[in-house]
Amino acid sequence: MSKHKKFETDAIRTQLERSQQGEHSVPLFLTSSFVFEDAEDMRASFAEEKEGNVYSRFTNPNTSEFVEKICKMEGAEDGYAFATGMAAVFGTFAALLNSGDHILSARAVFGSTHGLFTKILPKWNIETTYFDVEDLDRFEELITPNTKVIYAESPTNPGLQVLDLERLGVLAKKHNLVLVIDNCFATPYLQKPIEFGADLVIHSATKLIDGQGRVLGGVTVGSSDLIREIYLFARNTGPSMSPFNAWTLSKSLETLAVRVDKHCDNAEKVADFLLEHEAVEEVRYPFLPSHPQYEIAKKQMTRGGNVIAFQVKNGLSGGKQFIDAVQLCSRSSNLGDTRTIVTQPALSTHSKLSEEDRLAVDITDGLIRISVGLEHPDDVIQDVKQALNSLL
Ligand SMILES: *Cc1c(COP(=O)(O)O)cnc(C)c1O
Repeated sequence: MSKHKKFETDAIRTQLERSQQGEHSVPLFLTSSFVFEDAEDMRASFAEEKEGNVYSRFTNPNTSEFVEKICKMEGAEDGYAFATGMAAVFGTFAALLNSGDHILSARAVFGSTHGLFTKILPKWNIETTYFDVEDLDRFEELITPNTKVIYAESPTNPGLQVLDLERLGVLAKKHNLVLVIDNCFATPYLQKPIEFGADLVIHSATKLIDGQGRVLGGVTVGSSDLIREIYLFARNTGPSMSPFNAWTLSKSLETLAVRVDKHCDNAEKVADFLLEHEAVEEVRYPFLPSHPQYEIAKKQMTRGGNVIAFQVKNGLSGGKQFIDAVQLCSRSSNLGDTRTIVTQPALSTHSKLSEEDRLAVDITDGLIRISVGLEHPDDVIQDVKQALNSLL
C-alpha cells in the first residue's frame, strides 16, 4: 500500500492504473476479463502467485482504486467493493458467520439490515439480539458463547442515536468479537471507526460517497485476514461492484471533503432554524448540545453530518402535511445527495416495523428526516419554513 498523504490529497491523487494515452483523469476499464501473457502467466494468476487482474468479478483496476482510496481514508488494511450497500452488509455476514453463530446488533439499524437479521439470516440459523444505547452498561450479559459479531451504525438512521464506538471497541476486544460498524452517515471524513477499535467498516457508497444520487455501491474495509474471507466469498458468489460504478464513485471521493463540509455547514443552519420554529417539537442533530449523546458525538466525530431528524406537531397527519407542503425539497428515500430530501420514516423506510419496534428506536409518527443538500441554505430554510407554517 502506498504512503499516506493528507485526506484530501489521497482522495484526489490515489491512482493505481493508467492506460497508455497519458490521460490526466482516471480511465474507465470497462472490461470483463484480462489477458494472460502465456500459459505460465495464466497458471500463476489463477494460483494467486502474482498480482494482477484476471476477471472483473474478482478485481478490476477501477474497483481496486476505489477500495484503495476508502482504505486510506478509513485507515484500513484492505477492502472489497460491492454492488450495493446491502450486498456489502450481507456479504460481510455471509462470509464471516457459520450456522449457529450469534450477532449482537444495535437496535436502530437500516430497514433492510433489520430485514436481513429477522428474515434472511435465521434461514441459516444465525440469530441476532438487539441492544439499546442504554444497554452498554449491561452489555456483557447479552454475550453468549456463540456470539461472533457486534454490529452498529452510528449515527443511526433515522433516529440519529450515537453509539459509543470506543466502548464497543473495548468490549469487542475483551470478548474476542468482530466489531463491524456501518459508517454510512458519517463518512470517513467525519468519523474513522477503526481508530476506536472497529475490525470492519461498511459503507453504502450510494449515499454521501456518491453524493449526487447517481449510482449504487457498497464497500467493506478492515483487517486483511477478515477481508480475505470476504473476498473469497464475494469472488465465488458475485456481488461485486461494476467498473463503471467504481469509476464514478472514485471520482466522487475527490470532492468528498469539500462536499461534506458544506453539507455540515448547511445542516447546522437548518438545525438552528428548526429549533426556533413553533411547529417543531424536537430537533435531533448529533452536534446540538441538546442531543442525548452530544459528548460522545463530539469525541468520535469531527462534525455532525448532513441529516437532521425532527418531530413536527400533530404526529402522523402533521408529518404528512409537512411532506405534502415542501416545494423545493425532494420527497425521496435517498440521502446524502446534492438535493435536499425529506422523508417521513414511519410511512416509508420504517413502515414495516411494528409501532413498538419503531418507538424503541425513536421513530415517532411525526418524525421527519431531512438530508440537507448543497442548495443555498437560505432557499432550503425558506422552503422548510413555508411547509412548517402550514401546520400552524
Ligand atoms: C442506504 C443504507 C444502506 C444500504 O445501502 P444500499 O446502497 O441502498 O444497498 C445500509 N446502511 C445504511 C445506514 C444506509 O443508509
